[in-house]
Amino acid sequence: MTRREFVRKLVRRIHKEAETLDRDVTIMHVCGSHERTIVEHGLRSLLPENVRLVCGPGCPVCVTTTGELAAAIKAAEDGMVVCAFGDVYRVPTPVGSLSSCDGDVRVVQSVRKAEEIAESEDRDVLYLAVGFETTAPTTAAVLLDDPPSNFYVLSAHRLIPPAMEWLLESGECRLDAFICPGHVSTIIGTGPYESVARELPCVVAGFEPEDVLIAVLACLKMLRRGRVGVTNEYLRAVEDRGNPVAKELMERAFEPEDRPWRGFPTIPESALKLREDLADHDAIEIGIRPDYTLGHDESCICDRILRGLAEPRDCPLFGTKCTPTDPVGPCMVSEEGPCFIEYRFGGG
Ligand code: SF4
Ligand code: SF4
Repeated sequence: MTRREFVRKLVRRIHKEAETLDRDVTIMHVCGSHERTIVEHGLRSLLPENVRLVCGPGCPVCVTTTGELAAAIKAAEDGMVVCAFGDVYRVPTPVGSLSSCDGDVRVVQSVRKAEEIAESEDRDVLYLAVGFETTAPTTAAVLLDDPPSNFYVLSAHRLIPPAMEWLLESGECRLDAFICPGHVSTIIGTGPYESVARELPCVVAGFEPEDVLIAVLACLKMLRRGRVGVTNEYLRAVEDRGNPVAKELMERAFEPEDRPWRGFPTIPESALKLREDLADHDAIEIGIRPDYTLGHDESCICDRILRGLAEPRDCPLFGTKCTPTDPVGPCMVSEEGPCFIEYRFGGG
């Protein structure tokens, strides 16, 4: 069977399952790479009318709060060398952005590069650590490997399962199933989704268009049979136990903390803070404290998009006042942001 025939077959089966369900179904994914696959391959247009595929908080840059960004901007203006990923660097806030601030800000591809900069600098170096369970183990590895004394981490790392729990409990967006993020699942395995999976189907999926369609089909089948639980459709990369080495690194370096996300109130145990024995490298300990009450541009609806309540094209600024070259919100800056993906790959 050719790839095209396989996709056609999957789509037919999805339509058949959806017909038997005879009601509207909303499936949420929480992964920027899934959103890109969906938009780039026009997968939404292949789905039956009663099946909606919405995106949630799937991009670590998008969910980083203005307070965390502003704290890094202030550190740069106060004389620290600040290292951040390219996407983070460009996110606008009411107090400017790392790219426009008056300080020494360097774009890095990894935490290792930030550590190297600290080794070659007399000044203090701050690494703004964003990312979900996929990147947190790398930050942990550097922190646990005796980094230079002038190296500090402001941890904006966040955990996906607590956000899924919040989304489910809030009931704001009526969800019938989750597609779980592929890369995150390679690290954490399937266990951490269990509390959500007690309520609805959760399907771990890879990033090919077929993977996403298989996940949608699996969700619909589970719904028809009235089944809940976690199904792993990404067996070629995800083991149920996850990656024990990466999990141990995270566990040794960080502990979970209650924290707000951009567009979300405080989500219990949803962020990672440095453990006490790493306090010498904790930016918080030298007074770089994010103010989580700081707001963002009111006209930007990123917060609603990240909670599955709106789509990029619902935003009046989309493609006019807000573009990837002149973004208003993080969802248009980050390559994993839903507005950027829709603008670049959404056509028309
Ligand atoms: S880090 Fe990977 S798995 Fe997680 S949301 Fe981003 S692309 Fe998806
Ligand atoms: S289009 Fe721009 S302003 Fe509108 S939600 Fe997306 S990032 Fe925010």
